[in-house]
Parts: sequence; C-alpha cells; structure tokens
Amino acid sequence: MNHLQKIFFSSILLGGAILGIAFLSGRRQEQSSEPLYKQSLNQLKELSQKKYHQSLQLLAYAHYAERDSLHDVAALFHAMSHADAIHCANCRHAIEALGGMYSHPTISPTQFVSTTTHLEKTLHNKTLTHDHQMPKYINQALSDNNRYIARMLTWCDASDIKQITLLNDILNSHPSQHQYLYKVCPTCGDISWETITTRHCPMCMTDSVKFIIIRH
Ligand SMILES: [Zn+2]
Repeated sequence: MNHLQKIFFSSILLGGAILGIAFLSGRRQEQSSEPLYKQSLNQLKELSQKKYHQSLQLLAYAHYAERDSLHDVAALFHAMSHADAIHCANCRHAIEALGGMYSHPTISPTQFVSTTTHLEKTLHNKTLTHDHQMPKYINQALSDNNRYIARMLTWCDASDIKQITLLNDILNSHPSQHQYLYKVCPTCGDISWETITTRHCPMCMTDSVKFIIIRH
C-alpha cells in the first residue's frame, strides 16, 4: 500500500468514525428530549383536571343545599370545594415545575338530584380516588425519587381521607351534631372544624391565622 492509499483509507475510517459519533450523539439527544417524570406528569394532569371538576361541582352542590336551607351540608360542600381548588392549584404548580403544561378540562353543567344523593355521589368519587388513584400516584413519585410530588400528593390524599370521614359523619349523624364552621388550610387543603383548635396546620405547618374560614 502506497502513501496515497494509506491516506485514502485513513480518511474513510476517520469519516466513518465521525458519522458514527454524530449518529450516537443524535440518538442521545432524541432520548433526552423525552420529558423526565413523564408518568407522574400524566397522572398529575389527570388528577388536577379531576380536582378542578370536583371543586366546581362541590360549589354547585353547596348552593343547592343552601337553597334548601341545609346550612351544615352547604358549609361542608364549600369547605371541600376550597380544598379541591387548592389541590388543583398544587398539581398545576407541580406540572409547571416539571416542565409540563396544564389546561382546564371542558366541564358539562352539574346535574342536580337531591342533597343526600350529592353527598353519596361525592363520597363514592372521593373513595374511588383514595383507593385506586392515589396509592399508584404516590408510589410513582416515590419510585421517581421525587419527594416534592410525593409530599404534595400525600397532602391531597390526607385531605381526601378527612373529607370521606366528614361526608360519612354528615350522612350518618343526627343534625344536632353537624358542624357549621370549617377551616381550610390554603397550602395543603387540610380541613379542620370548629371544635379543633390548632396553631399550625398538622399536615404542612402553615400558621392557622392564614386558614380560610367557612361559616354558615
Ligand atoms: Zn396545611
């Protein structure tokens, strides 16, 4: 092999190596364009849209209960509507922090039946979310090692558990035992009631002076 042939073959080898490196680097960029926490993002979008819908529906149920002078139920629906709006906002901030985009879902008008049915329907929806969605979502955030999302989802689930308890109480107790005053933590959506006094939210340590007061 003469000198020119050596140069020729070296150039071919060098060109091939450059093409190979360019191809691999392109593949790497393609892979990195895949958003991080993709599964968590999809779950947060699903949850935030559900919370948005529930918040509006609970507000409509509160007005319906007020119309029937059921002030205790109206107070609970108002408190729950605030809590779900806070959860929706928390999910929305998390989506944006992870580089995703949030959009409001299209909402169909609320169908009214009776206040008891509204309470039962809400209890059913809250129980489904707690039993089937939240464990999966929290586990996903933990397996991503994303403690910010896991903490926010835990707040949301804890608030839902409290809402399930309050719904069961109001459906099963005597009207004289019902509450007319609720406090909602503006950070995590935790709901507390009249008889419970605390200086800080037990979930997120927000000062109680910031609590949203719902009174009927
Ligand atoms: Zn809180």
